[in-house]
Amino acid sequence: MTNLPASADELAAGLASLDLEARLQRVARFAGRKVFTTSLGIEDQVITAAIARSGTAGAIEIVTLDTGRLFDETRALIDETERRFALAVERYRPAPIDVEAYGARYGLNGFYDSVEARHACCDIRKLRPLALALDRAAFWITGVRRGQSGARAETPLAEWDAQRGLLKVNPLADLTLDAIKAYAERHDVPLNPLHARGYPSIGCEPCTRAIKPGEPERAGRWWWEQDQTRECGLHVRDAASPITPISSSKVQVPAT
Ligand code: SF4
Repeated sequence: MTNLPASADELAAGLASLDLEARLQRVARFAGRKVFTTSLGIEDQVITAAIARSGTAGAIEIVTLDTGRLFDETRALIDETERRFALAVERYRPAPIDVEAYGARYGLNGFYDSVEARHACCDIRKLRPLALALDRAAFWITGVRRGQSGARAETPLAEWDAQRGLLKVNPLADLTLDAIKAYAERHDVPLNPLHARGYPSIGCEPCTRAIKPGEPERAGRWWWEQDQTRECGLHVRDAASPITPISSSKVQVPAT
């Protein structure tokens, strides 16, 4: 184990010349808890495969946010991924009391009615479970890529997440979708069948649609909203939180 890097910039500079598996090995050597959050999309599946192939599965925990609204295909892929790579994907689920409170206030599918209601749903089903998943973590590894959307165009290889007090590592930040696909094909990585049906970005079933030819990769996420609101709060950089707390759950929402 080595001490933490002096800064996110130093870490990013050290990762820049490495390939994906070497990047993960570099991060795995640092002291502290290291958590990779997967949504089972192609980027995250490639990272999971790279963790398995690089021998870092013991050092990097793999978790997913099982929102309760995932596609059947995604849930099946979690099981398949565990079998294929002989590793565990830990599921973090929303607190039942939060789901109940949300339903009472907004209705089960109230997220279609307003941006506030949608952010409140992402809060209880994603952000609060994420806060638990990242508890006491020193590193958070994600599959965010610059090419996924305009909002992600400046994503660095590593950055300080002041909200959560950890180093966020984006080892795919500078890779193209073609490079991701090539890695997946080369290593026979199991993929969500929804990708082949026009879903380059896959989230919760009621909030994701297939995209049309020429549309941006994330155009199918919360498609009924304006572009500037289309993030769930997991990967918002240097911005105020969209979170609207709705219940008295003891789970702590990340400070924003
Ligand atoms: S993506 Fe949709 S269903 Fe999933 S947590 Fe957000 S609002 Fe709720």
